[in-house]
Amino acid sequence: MKSFDPIESLANMRHEFGEHGGVNMSIETSTTYTVMDPETMPAIFQGHRGPTDGGCYLYGRHFNPTVYVLGRQLAALEGAEAGYCTASGMSAISSTLLQLVSAGDHIVSANTIYGGTFALLKDYLPPRFGIKTTFVDMTNTAEVEQAFENGTKVLFVETQANPLLAIADIPKLADIAHARGATLVVDNTFCPLVVSPLQLGADIVVNSLTKFINGASDYIAGAICGSTDFITSLMDIHQGSVMLLGPTMDPQAAYAISMRLPHLGLRMVEHSRRAQVFAQRLSELSVPVIYPGIADHPQHDVMKRIMNPDYGFGGVLCIDLGNLQRANKFMETLQNKDKFGFMAVSLGYFDTLMSCSAVSTSSELSPEDLEAAGIKPGLVRMSIGYTGSVEQRWQQLRDALQAVNMIECQSAIM
Ligand SMILES: *Cc1c(COP(=O)(O)O)cnc(C)c1O
Repeated sequence: MKSFDPIESLANMRHEFGEHGGVNMSIETSTTYTVMDPETMPAIFQGHRGPTDGGCYLYGRHFNPTVYVLGRQLAALEGAEAGYCTASGMSAISSTLLQLVSAGDHIVSANTIYGGTFALLKDYLPPRFGIKTTFVDMTNTAEVEQAFENGTKVLFVETQANPLLAIADIPKLADIAHARGATLVVDNTFCPLVVSPLQLGADIVVNSLTKFINGASDYIAGAICGSTDFITSLMDIHQGSVMLLGPTMDPQAAYAISMRLPHLGLRMVEHSRRAQVFAQRLSELSVPVIYPGIADHPQHDVMKRIMNPDYGFGGVLCIDLGNLQRANKFMETLQNKDKFGFMAVSLGYFDTLMSCSAVSTSSELSPEDLEAAGIKPGLVRMSIGYTGSVEQRWQQLRDALQAVNMIECQSAIM
């Protein structure tokens, strides 16, 4: 069986040409659209003549042609029937969940997830909507199964969980969810192209485009990919959570992001290649490093089984510096002395971004939740960039590790 090739799938989709035959799509900025005859207007409102059936547009918060094309490009990348973009990754996640669950329903979620998603599930949804979530160690099948209740509608996981990079065994989780009538929603933000969740049995994929997919840390954006029925339901004028909550992507942003998709493959290959080199060398120096591409990672074999062949193991790794003070000195040296990268949250930028998870992107978790999730106080998450040369960056990394006594100076021959 030929494996799914996301870049080939995107290339095929891009072989349709715009109204003027340009190789790139045009930017449609109109917020409202004319109809040729008055009968069309009610048909659009009844949901019969949208862009998927009849090629009609109504209003910019409903469907915009440029945003719609970017959604279709992402659907091609994920191998989905349909896709649509939103103003942020968080709105892609919240709209998807609110489309799938109602008051009184239940969600099962991985316990190590993006801090914003964790706060949404743990603090925001229960008191306001009566939607409860049970958090589980998603790598423990029995625990996941036991968490299901009668009203469980969604199983939510991240492919590579933030920040510890636990890997979701998507085929197995899909079986568990489907056997209980639930929908498997996967946040694939950490590893676009590296893993294609829909090909492995997931029902819906959400992405923060803000990270690797856009790759330049200059746009906040999100996307939802899944069945045509689901995407259409999000835009329903009475019941659609994207239509009614209104996290609309600007068409200029859609255009700019679409221009970065053709080199996403090259970027992911290089992010992964460098993360792999650094992780291997760190591991040889006995520095505690977490990276799915090294053999001692607990889900290394799961990752090998679910990943696409050509994009490596992803661009994020974590180093445990033991305590916060040492983590801070390490990052400060790397940024201010060595110019290795930036102390900043986020990921997928062309330069390395690093942050101490417990006091930044996972600070929504209480000390007990941090402990339960295994997020140690000195854990530094690094999204490895591709500027400079590998050897120059490696010397800088060694220098900072020496500055905090994680490795000895004598071994500096490498
Ligand atoms: C950043 C991130 C989000 C949120 O995306 P925004 O675009 O910032 O709203 C969700 N999930 C993961 C895994 C992320 O890294």
